[in-house]
Amino acid sequence: MPKDPICGMEVEESKALKLEKNGETYFFCSKGCQDKFLNKIKESSVNKKHDSDKEKK
Ligand SMILES: [Zn+2]
Repeated sequence: MPKDPICGMEVEESKALKLEKNGETYFFCSKGCQDKFLNKIKESSVNKKHDSDKEKK
């Protein structure tokens, strides 16, 4: 079974939320976990481009 990268829970492929990113497929137990994951990759790509401390929360 695929694992939710955010909470570490094993999810059923048929029920999970599926997301394809950079040629990899991720599965999430809920929309909340998917959102967290998307925020994470958004943050890391933003940080790569330029560092903006004031933008942090
Ligand atoms: Zn989850």
